[in-house]
Amino acid sequence: MREPVTACIALGANLGDARQTVLQALHNVGQLTACDVTAVSRLYRTAPWQAQGPDFVNAVALITTTLTAPDLLRALQALELAAGRERPYLNAPRTLDLDILLYGAGRIDSPTLTVPHPRMMQRAFVLHPLADVMPEAVTSQDLQRVQDQAIEVMA
Ligand code: ADP
Ligand code: MG
Repeated sequence: MREPVTACIALGANLGDARQTVLQALHNVGQLTACDVTAVSRLYRTAPWQAQGPDFVNAVALITTTLTAPDLLRALQALELAAGRERPYLNAPRTLDLDILLYGAGRIDSPTLTVPHPRMMQRAFVLHPLADVMPEAVTSQDLQRVQDQAIEVMA
């Protein structure tokens, strides 16, 4: 039996009922084999950044899992597909995007998986919800660096 690892998942959606998609995805992540959701951030509304389409709904979840990082990615991609995700072009609007931000203290650099997520520190829609669930991972300078990106907590 593998040791459980605390991993951090970013959720984003900007097509259809994005809020409902994110809430459903949070539920579905908790239903995955060998994954327990231990904390969920507030939901945030963000303007598309280096992306297109309507505003995004974003959140971050902490999970405890015994899945390997590649198995976790495959499981998350299956949830994206089940939510109707298509990838017509880079940064296209998406029904659901599930990214692995952190996998314990692990550093992974494979063609299909880079952890910590290489762009997480540049994105307000990651840093704000991440600060909700893992405050020690985000400094006030980190938040200052992304202060030009529009983001608000959803009611
Ligand atoms: P993005 O999330 O950057 O908008 P996609 O969701 O389409 O783009 O993902 C593109 C590829 O990124 C995936 O097929 C996956 O193999 C790869 N990838 C690399 N690192 C990660 C990570 N940490 N989390 C999720 N996907 C990743
Ligand atoms: Mg992704």
